[in-house]
Amino acid sequence: MTDGGDDAIRSVLIVGGGTAGWMTAAALAHAAPRGLAITLVESDAIGTVGVGEATIPPIRLFNQTLGIDEAEFLREAKGSFKLGIEFVGWGREGHRYFHPFGTHGKSFDLVAVHQHWLAAGGLDSGIAFDALSMAWGAARLGRFAAPMADPRSVASTFDYAYHFDAGLYARFLRRYAEARGVMRVEGRIAGHALEADRGHVASVTLEDGRVLAADLFVDCSGFRGLLIEEALATGYEDWTHWLPCDRAVAVPCVTGGDGLTPYTRSTARDAGWQWRIPLQHRTGNGYVYCSRHISDDEAAATLMANLDGEALGDPRPLRFTTGRRKLFWNRNVVAIGLSSGFMEPLESTSIHLIQAGIAKLLAYFPSRSFAAAGIAEYNRVAITEYERIRDFIILHYKLTQRSDTPLWRDCAAMPIPDTLAMKIAHFREAGRLVARDMDLFGPASWAAVHIGQFNIPEGRDPLLAYGDPTQSRAFVGKLAGAIGQMAESMPAHADWLKKIGALA
Ligand code: FAD
Repeated sequence: MTDGGDDAIRSVLIVGGGTAGWMTAAALAHAAPRGLAITLVESDAIGTVGVGEATIPPIRLFNQTLGIDEAEFLREAKGSFKLGIEFVGWGREGHRYFHPFGTHGKSFDLVAVHQHWLAAGGLDSGIAFDALSMAWGAARLGRFAAPMADPRSVASTFDYAYHFDAGLYARFLRRYAEARGVMRVEGRIAGHALEADRGHVASVTLEDGRVLAADLFVDCSGFRGLLIEEALATGYEDWTHWLPCDRAVAVPCVTGGDGLTPYTRSTARDAGWQWRIPLQHRTGNGYVYCSRHISDDEAAATLMANLDGEALGDPRPLRFTTGRRKLFWNRNVVAIGLSSGFMEPLESTSIHLIQAGIAKLLAYFPSRSFAAAGIAEYNRVAITEYERIRDFIILHYKLTQRSDTPLWRDCAAMPIPDTLAMKIAHFREAGRLVARDMDLFGPASWAAVHIGQFNIPEGRDPLLAYGDPTQSRAFVGKLAGAIGQMAESMPAHADWLKKIGALA
């Protein structure tokens, strides 16, 4: 039997209505407007994880593909713009650096911009590496405007993402999906039935006895993985030995301090790190920590003592095990969202992994014969994507020069994956940025973290020897000046939101 025709999937059941469930429902409704019955089951009694507010630039592509208007979405989800992440106290206590979206200037020859900065004296040049990033130029002044299209302008060298209330985003996508025919079922799943021959999930049963059957199941049920784990016992690969944080405590507060900053802040603490994510109506905060090094009460107290406005509720505890399912797609179940695995939100990658899961599901959309080759490829790509992100997150911990608490000492000394050790060694040797297929974060991101955390190259790009030695200094000086000037001319973040009609 070939794909399509009689063998086509006729029904999909999405299990769970968090960010993952409604993103999947909206995307499937958009991609298959006819002939595919899409049902989503969720339980208000169980609720959602209720956190997840910072994103990375590819989210814009997701919204654009669905035809979502940016201003309307920001209004509905009380969102703000994000130009990157400021890391405080990660490399050394009191030190700050910025991971920008976009690039550091633009290379004007074959030699990368960070190489010119190094040639100009690097840390001793009097010019911070961050000053070569347009995203930071605007972010540090609290400015924002859309990037310019003209590639000659320094204002074309940055990119952006959003901060938003994930619960409101899910509600927004629910309206989108329901308007396109997705059926929502309220109820708590209490059991499941497997097909006798293939072991596929045949149906789920709700507490009230209703049975929901489908050809394909998308498990968006959150950490417990109702189908991928509880029904199919897929197994989990634990990465806690590389990323030891296993808990978080979260609380929103009134926006104070630096106000509606167009960037996320991550501040290193004794046993982990704290996020600050400004939305239109509040600021999201959380302390991600390692339970071996701090008690839950101490973590909550640390968070509450470090808010920049009055807390809007009690601190909410969350537990997780960093790692991934052994398979993301098992038989007729595809796990998307927290059911598929979890990496701490240091680089805001979870919602992106939902998007990546959906994109792959559409690329390898099965027929009812569920050909093994497509499923295998889905899993291969998903595993690689996960591992590439894992390495980038570990980089932040491994490169720390802090030795003030056990967590940071352990992280600096821990063994790391070979795939990451190789990248650190290349950068240290001559500032080389070695890319691997399916790296989500590009050279500018890696350079920002290497340099921001003092993995300063011992050698230089040999090509520099063939250029004019004074040119590097002139280039970085000019670039920093142009960025500074451009940033001054940009509107305040809140003014831009107002201008485009995005303020709720
Ligand atoms: P959930 O939100 O847990 O939804 C699960 C759904 O399944 C719910 O609708 C629930 O009702 C339903 N369900 C479960 N069991 C049943 C049942 N038996 N019957 C019926 N329905 C059921 N991501 C980012 O991209 N950026 C961030 O800044 C970020 N910060 C985070 C901070 C923390 C501390 C944590 C833990 C996560 C963070 N994330 C972040 C991840 C992000 O929150 C999730 O990726 C995202 O919310 C998707 O969650 P989900 O939809 O998979 O699961």
